[in-house]
Amino acid sequence: EAKRKGRNSIAFFDPSITQKAQRQIGMNTRLRKAMDNHEFVLYIQPQISVETGELLGGEALLRWMNADKVTNMPSEFIPVLESSGLIVDVGRWVIRTSCEYLRNFIDMGIWQDHMRLGINISPRQFRDPQLLDIVQHSMKSYNIDPSFLNFEVTESLVIEDVDDAIKKMEAIKALGAMFSIDDFGIGYSSMIYLKRLPFDQLKIDREFIRNIHRDSESRGIVEAIMAVSKQYGLKVTAEGVESQEALDILRELGCHSYQGSHFSMPVPCDRFTKLLAA
Ligand code: C2E
Ligand code: MG
Ligand code: MG
Ligand code: MG
Repeated sequence: EAKRKGRNSIAFFDPSITQKAQRQIGMNTRLRKAMDNHEFVLYIQPQISVETGELLGGEALLRWMNADKVTNMPSEFIPVLESSGLIVDVGRWVIRTSCEYLRNFIDMGIWQDHMRLGINISPRQFRDPQLLDIVQHSMKSYNIDPSFLNFEVTESLVIEDVDDAIKKMEAIKALGAMFSIDDFGIGYSSMIYLKRLPFDQLKIDREFIRNIHRDSESRGIVEAIMAVSKQYGLKVTAEGVESQEALDILRELGCHSYQGSHFSMPVPCDRFTKLLAA
């Protein structure tokens, strides 16, 4: 019956467009309630030293467990949060919750001084005038050493106003936190930003890592990125390392750290706690 109705509507609308629009509107409404309903969860993906295999920390990654207990992935809902502006509130929650997790790890004695927790900041959230206050306040309320935090941002956010982005990064870095440039190699990537912006680390997008052991073009791109990183004094981390073969090449090329299914996909906090404790 529903199917027949759906088919009838094809005569009047482009079904793919209306379906997509309807899904977005529906999702928007549900996302508005998701914060209050405690439906967001932070997973953590471990980050590993390429050289020694030791745990260097992790990256906090958002999941949305909605009322049907379905785990929604960021690619489905972050764009909706971003376009509605809800990402600012959700992003604050991500920063606070990351600090809360860190406090627990520290209290349990399983967090080491050299470790870092990566927190993704979206373009819209980066433009929030209160970002510095939120970072400062979260660190204070959980008594977190800022050097444990590593903010991951993509280049797209600095495109509009480079000077403003530099000021903002410098202010947050002055607290002691560090910055990584995320998804490097895709989108707006430009060497100009590496030169001008005060990044500490560069994350190579998994698009280039996935086939690094099979495809000389991927390998060539990664080699070029490594060379540029060295030039600008940036540590390099690889995303999406899925095999020993890929890891071996990254070691050969002098990559500092990695994350990926070869070690572990993102896991819930309790599983990450066990990894830290092991
Ligand atoms: P990202 O920051 O580049 O995060 C890395 C993504 O690569 C994660 O996807 C992770 O699960 C995935 N990944 C890592 N290793 C592998 C692998 O070996 N194989 C495969 N197939 N995938 C791997 P995820 O968790 O779906 O997140 C996607 C994107 O959503 C993130 O990309 C980030 O841009 C955004 N995001 C996630 N959490 C947050 C958040 O709290 N705030 C904001 N603003 N954005 C977030
Ligand atoms: Mg990231
Ligand atoms: Mg990334
Ligand atoms: Mg990526």
